[in-house]
Amino acid sequence: MKLVQITLPTPLPVGNVNVYLIKENPITLIDVGPKTEEAIQVLEKGLAKEGIRFSDIRRLVLTHSHEDHCGLAKFLLRKAKDLEIFIHEWETGHLFGRFDKTENEQMLRRLGIPASMVEKMKSFYSKIRTLTETLEADSVKALRDEDEIEFDNGIMKILHTPGHTPGSCSFFREADRTLICGDCVLKRITPNPILSLDPFDSEKRFPSLAEQLVSVSRLRSLSPTLTYCGHGDPIYDFEEVFNRYLRLTNERQQKVVQLVPEIGATAFEIACKLFPEAISQEAQKFLAISETVAHLDYAVMNGKLAVEFRNDGVEFYRKV
Ligand SMILES: [Zn+2]
Ligand SMILES: [Zn+2]
Repeated sequence: MKLVQITLPTPLPVGNVNVYLIKENPITLIDVGPKTEEAIQVLEKGLAKEGIRFSDIRRLVLTHSHEDHCGLAKFLLRKAKDLEIFIHEWETGHLFGRFDKTENEQMLRRLGIPASMVEKMKSFYSKIRTLTETLEADSVKALRDEDEIEFDNGIMKILHTPGHTPGSCSFFREADRTLICGDCVLKRITPNPILSLDPFDSEKRFPSLAEQLVSVSRLRSLSPTLTYCGHGDPIYDFEEVFNRYLRLTNERQQKVVQLVPEIGATAFEIACKLFPEAISQEAQKFLAISETVAHLDYAVMNGKLAVEFRNDGVEFYRKV
């Protein structure tokens, strides 16, 4: 199965994003890049090197719905008329904007983030949203765990690997143990367990870190020999990346628990202590808060911390 990595520029702090052309029938692209002129040009050139035009692509499979991965989906749909687009059904909420729903705003307020800062975050993310175009719900088809993506010359198995986002998916070719995993595992950075609403109960947060740890362990159990990621270089030694990820996660978990004072604190207060620089930067703030909340929730799940609602509806973490 011929697989070609194409690296596209993004205006985001994460840097370049990788998309993957599977040059088999039907011609398939895994992720598509952000909606910028630069990304369109680089993608067009990368495909042209393989003799492929936008209109030749029959299938777009999305690992998840972050703007750097899915932004050009609608553009591609216009260029390739009978294109089929696939994404896990738990991701559809993201396609319509992270802060548009009142539940999302309530989720941020519950963390103790000052109202003025929530407003600033909303306006920042409305700029980020210009990197994607909303897809109509009926133009996407659902990816399901353990289903297969079929090609004339073989198959790739779909693995639902939630954590980074609720509907993140990875794709595995058993024949040569090749994995494409989006942002579920990255070579040089630990993927952020992004703050998300629970797909089944919008009053709750999705337990991102707990899910992420299960997903990464599941991928490890496949013993992939080559793993293509959403950002950065491919991974040849999954075991090494897995062990480093576990070590860093355990270290951060201990640090987060230590940072909760005897009198208790909000998630936002802990985030300010854990990431004093990132919390003041517009592009990093949401990621810093996501990482902190994911760790606080994981510590609560493991009985290391307790959480209760204050009278003003803000959650308050305490040592147990
Ligand atoms: Zn992502
Ligand atoms: Zn990404």
